[in-house]
Amino acid sequence: MGSNISPEVIAVQGGGDIDTETGAVIPPVHMATTYERDPDNSYSRGYVYGRPDNPGIARCERVINTLEGGAATIVLPSGMTAATFLFLALDRPAHIVAPTVMYWGLRKWLINDAPGFGIETTFVDGADPSAVAAAIKPGRTKLVWLETPSNPLWSISDIAGTSDVAHRAGALVGVDSTAATPVLTRPLELGADVVMHSATKYLNGHSDVLAGSLTFASDGAIAARVRGLRGSLGAILGPMEAALLLRGMRTLFVRVRHQSAAALEIARAMAVHPNIADVLYPGLERHPAHALASRQMRGGFGGMLSIRCAGGEAHAIATAARLQVWVRATSLGGIESLVEHRASIEGSGSPCPPDLLRLSVGLEPADVLIDDLSRALSA
Ligand SMILES: *Cc1c(COP(=O)(O)O)cnc(C)c1O
Repeated sequence: MGSNISPEVIAVQGGGDIDTETGAVIPPVHMATTYERDPDNSYSRGYVYGRPDNPGIARCERVINTLEGGAATIVLPSGMTAATFLFLALDRPAHIVAPTVMYWGLRKWLINDAPGFGIETTFVDGADPSAVAAAIKPGRTKLVWLETPSNPLWSISDIAGTSDVAHRAGALVGVDSTAATPVLTRPLELGADVVMHSATKYLNGHSDVLAGSLTFASDGAIAARVRGLRGSLGAILGPMEAALLLRGMRTLFVRVRHQSAAALEIARAMAVHPNIADVLYPGLERHPAHALASRQMRGGFGGMLSIRCAGGEAHAIATAARLQVWVRATSLGGIESLVEHRASIEGSGSPCPPDLLRLSVGLEPADVLIDDLSRALSA
């Protein structure tokens, strides 16, 4: 398929390859773990063994690379593998600047496990480029990590502004763009060096595959180290999971646009509900970074929002218990709407307030989701 074709077409057509053997419009799933060597002793078809890669992963990588406008994409078996492999690929000892409000599992890894690997992290307000600048240790800071919108408070980081600050100090910028998706934000175009996804969420979109990805602005030493880690450890997605991920990405654009529009409707309805103390959503004019989000995100503000219940933690937990359409479960970005009391899972030391419910908007009609929430909040 030509390189001038839009990312949306590439996503819908799963990369656009027609199977040369059969003409199948959906690619075959190759389950092989080993590949034939040529008579001249080479591997001209590119595949040797199933531990470093497989053809299904390569298809997913081509699609994600086009969506993010990158030089190289590496698909990994989870978002956590993607992020931690990037950190482990830095020249160590490494100092990282990361936001206080970020995916809790990764924050926990940075606090508890990373020091043993020679990685020290300073946590700052990721929405404040001057706080990031003050935390950078020139020569020692290898990476500035951002997550925007950030889980679960949905604050916004200025990717372009922070990239300027970081690059002047010689640090790379990595962005966890899981909540924004490549439909709404392309971090590499704004100056970031690496964009990471938990592909478990919106990229796959159906709550049935665990996967992650890293897309690099340049295919250099760090990308090569991540590929080396994947190949030597066998941290790869199986062929079936890769096929499911490719299928999921076909509907990425329609899902994310629908979910963004529905999330905005829900946020507006919740903002005037008497039993709500606050609604956290970058699409609302009252969000402190609404103007920045409007510049940085195109076509919507994403399908994630949080509500703070006026009656505190007990009210939040009781509200979640009364919901009939929203499913009480962790994770996000799937077709079914999910609700979660985040403080219960994040535990002590979390910046998440106890009265907060995180909402992942699925594909059910928005009015049904609003009615369910309104009733549960008021009961
Ligand atoms: C889920 C998630 C991760 C971790 O991804 P896994 O696929 O669960 O390993 C990282 N960042 C964000 C924002 C997430 O939502």
